[in-house]
Amino acid sequence: MFELASDSSGEPVQPLWEGKLEWEGDKEKVTVRNAGGKEFKEEAVVKEVDRKTSVEKMLQKLWQTPTQIIGDRSEIALIGHRIVHGGPKLSQPTIVTSQVKQAISDVSLIAPLHNVAGIQGIELAEKLFPKHPQIAVFDTGFHRTLPKYAAVYPGPYHWFERGIRRYGFHGINHEYCLHRAAHILKREITSLKIISCHLGNGCSLAAISGGKSVDTTMGFTPLDGLMMGTRGGSIDPGILIHLMRVDGIGPKDLDDILNHDSGLLGISGISSDMRTVLTAAGKGNERAKLAFNIFVHRLQSGIAAMAASLGGVDVIVFTAGIGENSAEVRGAACAKLMFLGVELDQANNSSARPDVDIATQNSAVRVLVIRAQEDWSIARECVRLS
Ligand code: AMP
Repeated sequence: MFELASDSSGEPVQPLWEGKLEWEGDKEKVTVRNAGGKEFKEEAVVKEVDRKTSVEKMLQKLWQTPTQIIGDRSEIALIGHRIVHGGPKLSQPTIVTSQVKQAISDVSLIAPLHNVAGIQGIELAEKLFPKHPQIAVFDTGFHRTLPKYAAVYPGPYHWFERGIRRYGFHGINHEYCLHRAAHILKREITSLKIISCHLGNGCSLAAISGGKSVDTTMGFTPLDGLMMGTRGGSIDPGILIHLMRVDGIGPKDLDDILNHDSGLLGISGISSDMRTVLTAAGKGNERAKLAFNIFVHRLQSGIAAMAASLGGVDVIVFTAGIGENSAEVRGAACAKLMFLGVELDQANNSSARPDVDIATQNSAVRVLVIRAQEDWSIARECVRLS
């Protein structure tokens, strides 16, 4: 929860409180922290994960608790929702109406995991706050400026006509990083060519020129592009035809393999978490080493491709869980980018605390580590629309 003035701009502010729900096996962990550092933590065993019920329980409990660490629910004026896929109809932040909800549901077939959760969040908020405006902000929105040659897949043209095109994701954070980078470097947004590397559980790159997204690695769905925690990113589509023909695999199993059994987890066989993969690689686990090497190789190729789309690069931004925290990934990714003029200050990379510049003074390209601030960006959009 954020308290923002109507003219708030520039610097992100700390939330008054934030809550996190995590699931690991049959355990459900709740962590809520307020601005004063007071924490509420709870762990429970759950038979089956039901995110909507869990979020509702968490909020009800926190508002009833005598410690009141998150204040009173009457303080809440507006509710913002991160919606992953806006599809062909929704790109700008918008007040949620029944038509908007329908349009979000319509694209659930393309991003089933994400958009179904988004609709559940909206319905829960409508139940808890029936009189409050709900605002939807779309991860695809920032990429609406992609030139047609970057957005259209070279299949039959009628794919594009029926909405099968590159949409791109993580736009809320890519856009935030663009503004933050310009602010840190004291440069005009219009003068910068930026490659934003969002490396978290999901990973994507955005090529940003003059403040506009001109290329990105995720596509029609968040499966495309870089290697991720449990998603493999771009693979030869012929593999899918082969699996369907030879193993008789259907869409449900393909979906599971591509969304849940691939990426760092699929290759290492250990974990989707880069920290665990790095620890295992450090102890000599060959498959963990391979997972790391594929991740870095694809990241390097992706950055070089984005630089080509931009015709050069002034700034590379590393953001999200891996981008903000892993000096190993940043160091390895930049090691082969000297030809672009990238030179990392190794000491600054190792000790980086976002937001910070980790390039040497002589580097032709600035390399920034920027903390993802999606919640704050969404809160600002809410204030702007209210
Ligand atoms: P996010 O989706 O932005 O929350 O990022 C989550 C991912 O960040 C986790 O799955 C980890 O792989 C990664 N991560 C977080 N901290 C670290 C770290 N210190 N070193 C490497 N990876 C990290």
